[in-house]
Amino acid sequence: MPTYEEARSCILDAIKPLGVEKVEILESLGRVLAEDIFAPWDMPLWNNTAMDGYAVRAEDCSAPVSLKISGFLPAGENMTSSIEPGTAVKILTGAPIPPGADAVVPVEETEESADSVSIKVPVKVGDHIRFKGEDVKTGELIIPAGTVIRPYEISMLASFGKLFVPVYRKVRVAILSTGDELVEPGEALSPGKIVNSNALTVAAAVRQLGGEPVMLGIARDDKESLRKKLTEGLNADVLITSAGISAGDRDLVRAVLNELGVKLVFWKIDIKPGRPTAFSLRDGKPVFSLPGNPVSTMITFEEFVRPALLKMMGHAKVIKPFITATLKTAVKKKPGRVNFLRVGLERQDGEYVAWSPGDQNTGILKTMLLAGGIAVLPSGQGNLDAGEKIDVHLLGPGVEMLEEL
Ligand code: AMP
Ligand code: MG
Repeated sequence: MPTYEEARSCILDAIKPLGVEKVEILESLGRVLAEDIFAPWDMPLWNNTAMDGYAVRAEDCSAPVSLKISGFLPAGENMTSSIEPGTAVKILTGAPIPPGADAVVPVEETEESADSVSIKVPVKVGDHIRFKGEDVKTGELIIPAGTVIRPYEISMLASFGKLFVPVYRKVRVAILSTGDELVEPGEALSPGKIVNSNALTVAAAVRQLGGEPVMLGIARDDKESLRKKLTEGLNADVLITSAGISAGDRDLVRAVLNELGVKLVFWKIDIKPGRPTAFSLRDGKPVFSLPGNPVSTMITFEEFVRPALLKMMGHAKVIKPFITATLKTAVKKKPGRVNFLRVGLERQDGEYVAWSPGDQNTGILKTMLLAGGIAVLPSGQGNLDAGEKIDVHLLGPGVEMLEEL
């Protein structure tokens, strides 16, 4: 049985990034750039003024001086004639520096009269000019392949008119719930039935990291139903099933996957909860069989599936870093295997403090909602006292880092 680390490495070793597609620029947000992007031209494209003021020849301004205003140049316009010596051109931020001018005097440092301007400050060549190419030079690598696109990368791409962006494909994830007891959310519950919440849980988690869920619904605990749904699921990039993976009489997922030519890589990981997790491959296509208890499904997704999906979408950084937190409450643990502990989290004086928000049984969903993170307690670890340090993976998009109003 692989350990926590072994299972994760084994999965990541087996997984390759998906192909590349060109998408409309805004669709590239959050995606991974698949090619280096080079600047097709200089930015800025011409010398221009960083301030509202007067374009001058610095040599005309050696002493406090009054210059005739010889023109007006707002942003968006261009002047082709040279500035006359001894004159100033009124200029607005962003406008190209007129030929012959070599400095800008900010309007705040001048006094304007009818048709002249007096300058009271010393002026140097280059003052308040944004120079051609000072930000980016033609041919310069502006965004390397592998970058995760943020609004700032969008800005750079937009500035160069790159309206279609090569990115790694979104992973299409087929999601299948299995179980005779399941009814879909909103359907009538009769005795013995429970709601299929796992499918939406996994779909939400897939979407949160930028993937595309494909809902397969429910397969019953019989081979025919499973065969039909699993076959359909193998059309996606990844197949995730929940439940039917333990050692019960009706746990048939592994057997049917095997019949369909899906090769088991491992079944069971030395962890708690989530031990019956299985990972298999068909021609390189990954199949994750997660345990059915909702909390086990959530935690095994977080710890094993998430990094895999990120890798498929071209991400180089796929493993969440641990943050260190100090336990506020004692926690019971038997040495033997890695335990995942749902923890409440808070920042106090710049440091994380963690506590168990209640019952850690996998049947208890409520404590998952109270958790800001999952503590990963090492296999050798025994009981923990308040005050001990633990390693925690933050859950969610990181809002825990924000300060309250
Ligand atoms: P199993 O692995 O099939 O023995 O299921 C383990 C537990 O998870 C049982 O209590 C199931 O009722 C529950 N369970 C299985 N599938 C789902 C699901 N899709 N949504 C919510 N709970 C589920
Ligand atoms: Mg079952």
